[in-house]
Amino acid sequence: MSSPRIEVDLSKIHRNTQTIVRRLGPRGIGVTGVTKAVCGHSAIAQAMLEGGAAGLADARLSNVETLRKAGITCPVTLIRTPMLSQVDQVVQVCEASYNTEIAVIAALASAAISKDRVHDVILMVEMGDQRDGILPENLADIAQQVMKIPGVALKGIGANFACLNDVSPTAPKMAAFSALANEIEGTCGPFLKIVSGGNSANLPWAFGERSTGRINDLRLGEAILLGVEPVSGDQIDGMHTDAFTLVAEVIETDTKPAPFPITLVDPTLARLRIEPTSGVSTRLILALGHQDTDILGLSMPAGSTLIGATSDHLVIGTNRPRPNLGSELRFQMNYKALMLAMALPDIAVKLINDGTSRQPRHTQGKSEHLTLV
Ligand SMILES: *Cc1c(COP(=O)(O)O)cnc(C)c1O
Repeated sequence: MSSPRIEVDLSKIHRNTQTIVRRLGPRGIGVTGVTKAVCGHSAIAQAMLEGGAAGLADARLSNVETLRKAGITCPVTLIRTPMLSQVDQVVQVCEASYNTEIAVIAALASAAISKDRVHDVILMVEMGDQRDGILPENLADIAQQVMKIPGVALKGIGANFACLNDVSPTAPKMAAFSALANEIEGTCGPFLKIVSGGNSANLPWAFGERSTGRINDLRLGEAILLGVEPVSGDQIDGMHTDAFTLVAEVIETDTKPAPFPITLVDPTLARLRIEPTSGVSTRLILALGHQDTDILGLSMPAGSTLIGATSDHLVIGTNRPRPNLGSELRFQMNYKALMLAMALPDIAVKLINDGTSRQPRHTQGKSEHLTLV
């Protein structure tokens, strides 16, 4: 089987989605599954939908096109404000998009009219992350302008947290966002169908004691795919953290003497040279490197330590029995590592537990991290 490859357990993505949907449902919040980290992979998207996601969202038009080409017909929202150069395609493949610029909204409207459609607009509000977003004080004015443009409909408002800056969605911030929804309805009159509170970083707030107010949607990628809450990095109760596994092949096994002194040519590489602490008996070289993924976002197999990496080689030390040449090691990935690896055409994606007859698996658990084949 080809390596490096990513093994994707679809039943775990299905169940992760289901777990979150069931926990958020009683709190009045629906789940939009975010597919950007898996580049719009349709089987993964389908597992999210079967798990109860109300719709899908992606930041890149090319990923949405991938979903559509694979026959996914559910509502798909573009969650990065559209490029002016892409408005025609956006209107073609997305029911809705997040927007911050009135000129883009006007262009979407013209494109929609020429296709005899109405495109839904969700206004992204800046709540402190200082990435994209309309300032709260300008929101009512822009909402009113959107309502006057034929070809687009104001569908809702959205917020985003903990992306550019680690501004967490605290209860007061979420209450303020909820109040904005009421305020917009008060001044402009439209009913806001979607009040989207944010991303996976919102889950601690959403699972909390307090009322979730007007928020009725969260856009979730990392939590569903990796089972973790991004700010703390902690596993979310009841979620699988091992739906994705990166598999790489051993291309050299060598018992080299204790670490010899290394003169670093580039000091920025220093952080990538983590000297094995103790008990490392074998150095392994794997066919995997910076070009494939974020090496620092990999968790090493049990008994192994990262020694270093170059563009195409991963050097690790292990105190386990020396694996055979050609055997495979398995790594869990963080979100960034996952998103980079999934984007590479020469890393194969192998689906596990695909199809409708998903059986509950009995072999889940932490002990599977190291498999020497
Ligand atoms: C990526 C993204 C999300 C999903 O974030 P996760 O941390 O993966 O849940 C939600 N909204 C926007 C605007 C995004 O760019």
